[in-house]
Amino acid sequence: MSQNHEDTIIEMVNQSGQAVMVGNSVKAEEWLTRARQLDPVTCELELARRAWANQSGAGAEVRRRRESVVARLGGVAVAAPDRIDAWRALADYLNQLGNHEGVLRATASGLKRDPTSIELWVRRTRAQIALGQLDSAARSLRHATKLAPTHDAVEALIRVHPMCANCGALFDTAGADTCRMCGHDGPGRGAVVRSVRARNSSKFDVYFPRVRDVIADSLNMPDRIKKQLTLDTLLKRHLKRTNQQCSNVLRALSKEFGAAFDEPLFHSAVVGFLDLLIADLIRAINPKKDNTIDTGIRQKALADHVTRS
Ligand SMILES: [Zn+2]
Repeated sequence: MSQNHEDTIIEMVNQSGQAVMVGNSVKAEEWLTRARQLDPVTCELELARRAWANQSGAGAEVRRRRESVVARLGGVAVAAPDRIDAWRALADYLNQLGNHEGVLRATASGLKRDPTSIELWVRRTRAQIALGQLDSAARSLRHATKLAPTHDAVEALIRVHPMCANCGALFDTAGADTCRMCGHDGPGRGAVVRSVRARNSSKFDVYFPRVRDVIADSLNMPDRIKKQLTLDTLLKRHLKRTNQQCSNVLRALSKEFGAAFDEPLFHSAVVGFLDLLIADLIRAINPKKDNTIDTGIRQKALADHVTRS
């Protein structure tokens, strides 16, 4: 992943910009070449970010320049379709241009590669709402709530666009009187609307911040990354780590959550399946018995996994 290179690339792009300022275009190009060699997509994303920010104000000229930034970034995303960060940035710029159809296309392309990307689902849902496609938006939002019930952006969407407690449709507005699908009373009449957090308030909600912090610290993630970690990002395959790193995480977790891991499990779990480990842990955490982990559930989950693989 590019996270490790991001700071270096930003610094190289800075150097390139400084070279431009003193009129040394050869040097400027050299820095960009080096940045591209490290990670072309991250380099393009950084260049796009700067180009976009440099075009402030309104007017046709600014819009034209921004559209060309978007066109270039679109090419980058198509050329590297697995890079969800590129689709995400593209969706954001298209959204700022008011091109919601474009957001639908960009998010569809990205979700083809990673159907669990909550960031793309949230952007897609917003675009569907903006286009008045409320049925599709409701479906997307329900999907997003299943994937990541505690994700801040999902929560925020539900707050602004409440769902009917009766049928799950999206209300037209946050203060709608009735549900246009089933006629049920809406928030405008004081009806209780569907709350994602209440419905999915899982055991792990309570523990998630601690789980996240322990994992982030034992993997030496910078604070910036740590703040972005959600359940769904933790469960993604690209968080797969070395055995040594998994071992560190497991040790830190068992230290934090008490001596609930038994020894055979401890050893058999250290095989690089960080996402599995986290899924097990979350399933196993029981808030009713503070500071304990139900090793029975965990043992079964791990046994299942071992059998499968
Ligand atoms: Zn309804």
